[in-house]
Amino acid sequence: MKTSVIGFPRIGEMRELKFAAEKFFRGEINEEELKKVGAELRKKHLFEQKNAGIDFIPVNDFSYYDCLLDTAYITGMIPERYKKLGVSELSTYFAMARGYQGKEGDVKALPMKKWYNTNYHYIVPEVDDSVEIRLFGNKIFDEFEEALALGIKTKPVIAGPYTLLSLARFTGTKQKEDIKDDLVAVYQGIFNKLESLGAEWIQVDEPSLVRDMSLDDIAFFESIYTEIFKGIKNIKLLLQTYFGDVRDIYPRLAKLPFAGLGLDFLEGKETKNLIEKYGFPKDKQLFAGLVNGKNIWKNNYAKTLNVVRELKEKGINVVLSSSCSLLHVPYTLDNEKKLSEKYKEYFAFAIEKLVEIAELGKLADDNNYDCTKEFVKNQILFNKQRDCVDEKVRERLAAVTEKDFNRNVDRKERAAIQRDRFKLPLFPTTTIGSFPQTADVKKNRSAFRKGEISEADYKKFNKKKIERIIRFQEEIGLDVLVHGEYERNDMVEYFGEALDGYLFTEYAWVQSYGTRCLKPPIIWGDVSRRRPITVEWSVYAQSLTDKPVKGMLTGPVTIFNWSFPREDISIKESMNQIALAIRDEVLDLEKNGISIIQIDEAALREKLPLRKSDWYSEYLDFAIPAFRLTASGVRPETQIHTHMCYSEFTDIIPAIDNMDADVITFEASRSDLQILDSLKENDFQTQVGPGVYDIHSPRVPSVEEITDALGKMRERIADENLWVNPDCGLKTRGEEETKASLINLVKAAHIIGER
Ligand code: GLN
Ligand code: ZN
Repeated sequence: MKTSVIGFPRIGEMRELKFAAEKFFRGEINEEELKKVGAELRKKHLFEQKNAGIDFIPVNDFSYYDCLLDTAYITGMIPERYKKLGVSELSTYFAMARGYQGKEGDVKALPMKKWYNTNYHYIVPEVDDSVEIRLFGNKIFDEFEEALALGIKTKPVIAGPYTLLSLARFTGTKQKEDIKDDLVAVYQGIFNKLESLGAEWIQVDEPSLVRDMSLDDIAFFESIYTEIFKGIKNIKLLLQTYFGDVRDIYPRLAKLPFAGLGLDFLEGKETKNLIEKYGFPKDKQLFAGLVNGKNIWKNNYAKTLNVVRELKEKGINVVLSSSCSLLHVPYTLDNEKKLSEKYKEYFAFAIEKLVEIAELGKLADDNNYDCTKEFVKNQILFNKQRDCVDEKVRERLAAVTEKDFNRNVDRKERAAIQRDRFKLPLFPTTTIGSFPQTADVKKNRSAFRKGEISEADYKKFNKKKIERIIRFQEEIGLDVLVHGEYERNDMVEYFGEALDGYLFTEYAWVQSYGTRCLKPPIIWGDVSRRRPITVEWSVYAQSLTDKPVKGMLTGPVTIFNWSFPREDISIKESMNQIALAIRDEVLDLEKNGISIIQIDEAALREKLPLRKSDWYSEYLDFAIPAFRLTASGVRPETQIHTHMCYSEFTDIIPAIDNMDADVITFEASRSDLQILDSLKENDFQTQVGPGVYDIHSPRVPSVEEITDALGKMRERIADENLWVNPDCGLKTRGEEETKASLINLVKAAHIIGER
C-alpha cells in the first residue's frame, strides 16, 4: 500500500532554522547564508522520508516563517505598505510576519492566530484594496525542482483557496467573492506550471472543511473548485483535510474530479460513518489519515490495520497517511538520552512516525501480517500493562462528588464577605503575576539548574527580588500584590515538574510560531502533586506586607492543553486528576495564610472543538468543572481569581462565568471592546479586570489613555465589579517601562475612584 506524509517539521532537529533566522533578523548572517540553511534542512528532511520508504513526500511544507503566509505571498495577498518598503522578496515576506523598522519604513506585522485546534500560530493574511491577486514568487516551483534535482519526485503542498479565504482578513472594500476569480486563475497557473515541471500529484490543504459549513460555504467551495478544474489538465489533485471530519460536505466531494481525498480517521469522529453511509467514490484514492500527527504515542498497528482492512473490503483504493502534518510533533526520540527506554518504547516522534507509516504500508499488503515481526513487536507493547496507574489517584477521583465542584457559598454572598475582609477601594489595582525577568533572574535560575549554585543561594537571590518587588508595588500604591514569579521558567513546565505522572524531554521542540518553539511535557500516567509547589514563595512574600499578596497557580485546563496528552484515558479524567493536584496546592496556600489565589487559565480556549455543536459536550462540560474542582475547596472569604490571555471568548461568556471565580482578568486592550459589550449582554457576574494596556509592546500608556479605557469599561461593567490591571504578565517587559506604565495605571484608577 502506498504511503503519504502530509507535512514534515521544518524547524530542524536542533532548531537550526530558528537559530539561523534569528541570526538573520539580528543582521549577523545574510540572506544567502539563511537560504543555505533552509536548503540543507529541506534536503535532510526529504531524504529522511525517502529513505524511510514514504511514497508521497511533501514539498513546500518547508517555510521560513509560516506556510499560510507563503500561500498568501505566492497568490499576491501582499498589502502595498509592505511592497512599498522596496526591500528583497524575503525581507518583504518577513516584514509581513514580524513587522519592519528601518530607513525604508516602519510597518507593523500582520496578526497571528491559532491554527485550528493546535498550538501552532499562523499569520493572518490581509486583503486590503491595494492587494493585487496574481502569481508572486516561485517558492513552490523552486522547492519542487530542488527535490527533483535530488532525485526525489515529490507532492507539492499548498493551502487551498477556500481555506485561504476563510482565514484571511478583509480590511478594505473587497470581499471574498471579489477576488475569487483572480484567485482561481492563480491556482490554475500554479497547478499547470507544476504539471509542466513534472509533478503528478498536488496536495491542496483545505482544513477549513472540518469546521461547520453553511450552505453558502458549501456552494462557495464548489464554485471555486468547479472553476479551477475547468482550467487544469492531467495533474492529480489531492484534497487534503485534517483535524476533524468533513460531514457537511462529504457527499458533495464525490462530484468533483479530485483524484484523492485525504480524510482524518483520528480526530474525524464521523469519517468512518460517512464512508459507511455514502460510500467512497470509485474514481478517487482515499488518503487515510491513521498515524497521529499531533500526539507522540506509538500507533496501535492492530487497530490501524483493521480500519485499513475494512476500507479495502469496500473496494477502496487506500493510501496510508499521517492524520495531519507532522509539524505538531517533535523531530526524533533519538536525542532523548535522559529519558529511560521504559518510557521511550511507547513514543514515536516525527522520524519514528515515518517508520510506522512505512511499516503499516507494507503490513497492509500482507495477508498474514499478524505473523510479521513488526506487528508482533507492536502488539507485545500494546498488550503489556503500561506502568501508569496510581490507585490512590483513581480512588480519590472516584470519590469526588457533585459538591466538590461547588463552593459552599454563592458568589454574591462571597463578594460581601470578601468586601468585609479585604476592604479594597473601588476600582482595585493589581497585576497578572510576573514581573520583568531580567538577565540576573534568568541567570540565577539557570545556575541553580546546572548545579552551579546551592539551593540556599538560589532562594536567597529570589527572596531579595521578591522583597524588592513587594516594596515597589507598595510604593506605587497597588492594592493587591504579587510575588513576581521569579522562580518560573514556563507556566506549565514549572508545575509539571512537581507533579507525578509527568515526563520531560530535552530536545522535543515543537514550532509554535515563526522561530518560537515549545517543549510540551508528556502526561505519562496518573497525575498527583508530589510536593507543595509555590507555598514557600507566596508565604514569604505575604510575610513582607499587610496588603494581600495573590498566590499564583496555573489551572488544570491550561496544564493539560499545553502537554502531550495520554490516549488511554479520557481528557476529562486527565484534567480532573490535574485539577485535584492543583486543588491540593490551593488548599495549602489557604492554610498558610494566603487570602487571594489566582488560578491562570491562559489556554482555556485552546482545545475548544472546531465545531460549535461539540463545544459543550466535548469540552466545556468537563473543562469548566475541572477548574471548579481546583478552586471549590476554599472558604468563602478566600478570593479566587483567574486570568485568560485572549479575549476571544465573546461566544463562551456564560461558560466563563460558570467557572465561578470571584474575579477574572483578561487581555482586552487590543480587542475592540466587543468583549465588554458581550459581558454586559450576558449579565456577567464575575468581577472583571479587562486589561487596560497592552503588555506585548514596550509603549508606556498615558494616564489619560487608561482613564479613557476605564471610562468605556464603566459604561458596561458595574463600578463595584471593575478591577484595574495590565492585560497579561509582565515577564517579557523591561523594568523601566513597567514601572512607568504601572504608575500611570495606579494614577488612572485613583482619578476615576476619586481617591
Ligand atoms: N501569571 C502569569 C504571568 O503573569 C500568567 C501568564 C499568562 O497569562 N500567559 O506571567
Ligand atoms: Zn496572560
